[in-house]
Amino acid sequence: MRPSDLLIPTPAGLWCPPADVYIDPVRPVARALITHGHSDHARAGHGAVLATRETLAIMALRYGEGFTGQRQEAVPGETIRIGEVDFTFVPAGHVLGSAQIVVESGGLRIVASGDYKRERDPTCAGFEPLPCDIFITEATFGLPVFRHPPAHAEVGKLLESVRLFPERTHIVGAYSLGKAQRVMALIREAGYDRPLYLHGAMEKLTEFYLSEGAQLGEVRKVVAAERKTLGGEIVICPPSAIQDLWARKFPDPVTSFASGWMRIRARARQKGVELPLIVSDHADWDDLQATIRETGAGEIWVTHGEADALVHWCMSVGLRAKPLHLVGYGDEGEADAVAEGADAVPV
Ligand SMILES: [Zn+2]
Ligand SMILES: [Zn+2]
Repeated sequence: MRPSDLLIPTPAGLWCPPADVYIDPVRPVARALITHGHSDHARAGHGAVLATRETLAIMALRYGEGFTGQRQEAVPGETIRIGEVDFTFVPAGHVLGSAQIVVESGGLRIVASGDYKRERDPTCAGFEPLPCDIFITEATFGLPVFRHPPAHAEVGKLLESVRLFPERTHIVGAYSLGKAQRVMALIREAGYDRPLYLHGAMEKLTEFYLSEGAQLGEVRKVVAAERKTLGGEIVICPPSAIQDLWARKFPDPVTSFASGWMRIRARARQKGVELPLIVSDHADWDDLQATIRETGAGEIWVTHGEADALVHWCMSVGLRAKPLHLVGYGDEGEADAVAEGADAVPV
């Protein structure tokens, strides 16, 4: 079987014709395989969804129980045959429930990694490198400028600032699925044991993480009338909220934002971020390269992000590579901001 017979980029997403399924389709399709719950990859309205138990639960939390016609759980490591094609979900280390999807047929093995990272994350299973013929990778941070420092050191900067400014409220913007809970878990690992305060928009997903065993300690919802009393505390909120009037009601707030984009100082300044924290749920430049090498794949397909730069690097080291030019995927910031906006409107 030729690779182009097994997976084809289409406007709806990556299509596998012999099984007639799409991976992370951006338009409604009859049958979708979903790598993880971020809103640009996991959309509502498909006829059937195959995903991990956690991803199915996250989609139901975000979109309601009717998010798909049928749902089927993919158990990590277990192979599911559809038509003549074998599919296996394997942890991707990106957010809770995130998975790479192994697509195998006629002796050809393609791994669609979805979004992934290599740094340890206490809130989800770690990425497992898999040998394959073709590795499909994202390239959100696929430029040499993106080298993420250790996340625990960035969280250490936050806690140091809390010690230095004990009267000020530290308001940390973080994407509501994955980043927020990872930051809270890292704060706990650093030994901080006061309650953490949470913006209401993040409550449901955080409760789900807690029910799945995430060690987040005592988490309290911010009550609007009590904001003035939260001097010295840490508040976690969606990135869009740090510039809101909502954030200005806290005592002398220090605004912080946990994101891989905080490597770019201009971006931090533009968002009015006083304390940028470089904490990313995506592989950085070095980890993209290391992962590509570990898979042993001779050919690399790049889905989204800085595709041209990563493709160029692949070719410079003798690998075949091409950008897939898939549209509809973005950094979670933009995508989640939209989802949170939608959540905030009473429906
Ligand atoms: Zn993602
Ligand atoms: Zn993505």
